[in-house]
Amino acid sequence: MDFNNDASGVTEGNRTLVLYAGNHMDHTSIGFSIYILTIAFIFGTVLGSFIDCMAWRIVKQESVLNGRSHCDVCGAQLTAGDLIPIVSYLKSGGKCSHCGAKISPESTWVEFLLGLTFAVLVLKFDLSFIALRFMGLSVILMGLSLVDLKTFIIPDRFHVMGIIWWLMTLPLTALTKGQGVTSYFAREVLGAEGALLQTGTESLSALELMLQDLKFGLISPFGIALFMLFLSIVFDKVSGKESLGGGDIKLLFMTGLYMRPGVAVFNLILSCIVGLVFVFILKKEKIPFGPSISLATMSSILIVSELLDGYICLLR
Ligand SMILES: [Zn+2]
Repeated sequence: MDFNNDASGVTEGNRTLVLYAGNHMDHTSIGFSIYILTIAFIFGTVLGSFIDCMAWRIVKQESVLNGRSHCDVCGAQLTAGDLIPIVSYLKSGGKCSHCGAKISPESTWVEFLLGLTFAVLVLKFDLSFIALRFMGLSVILMGLSLVDLKTFIIPDRFHVMGIIWWLMTLPLTALTKGQGVTSYFAREVLGAEGALLQTGTESLSALELMLQDLKFGLISPFGIALFMLFLSIVFDKVSGKESLGGGDIKLLFMTGLYMRPGVAVFNLILSCIVGLVFVFILKKEKIPFGPSISLATMSSILIVSELLDGYICLLR
């Protein structure tokens, strides 16, 4: 196996940064990979169940933290057996176990979708802080999309959560330099040569990497948000209608933190395309834009990292 193909070099001034870019679980057995992906999927469904519940409580203006989940029809408190993601729904045939009322399959779809997202992220980024960063982002995006779908409003708390999560993961992704657990395991335990993280003549320190992440992370959101604000003001003046809500501009700002400027521009275009597709499919004149931006954001992160094969575009 030629491991040299896995490293991508980026020249910057007189220094060359080479990040090991192909460590999406190439060095582990299929059995171990399936085990890790299954755990990621289950973890995703559990958080899906949590965020779906939280979104409903925000929509119904109930307390987010207090009180146990209950059936909407008979009010019976749900037991632990009713709260297993996906399994409970399939076992009960989509009916409340107390009163037999039909339960919407929505939560089950949310659980499945986040489980799938987590598994794909781990497949792509290994068990790394990069994967964890995007897992957190996907949970936040799922929550605000659910609320936006029902109320046409994105509460500010989601944007704040996104910014705090980005700041929290900033040192972690830089310190580990995007390295994942399985590639580390492969190198330390199995001694696989291919799991080398860096092979450059001179690599950036964790601090330099973090400062770069911070710098690029801030350029994208401010650029995109300013551009969108300008565009929407011009459009609204010309058409006399409100095109883009303030929540959408804040969302473009927040998601921009997680991308480099090039990816953010790609994301902006993809968001509009996804939005237009939704308008076309649903045949409605007004749809919330939050879910489109959210779907485009996760797609952009996965597509761009796939195209450039690595973290370079995301971490640097
Ligand atoms: Zn019931």
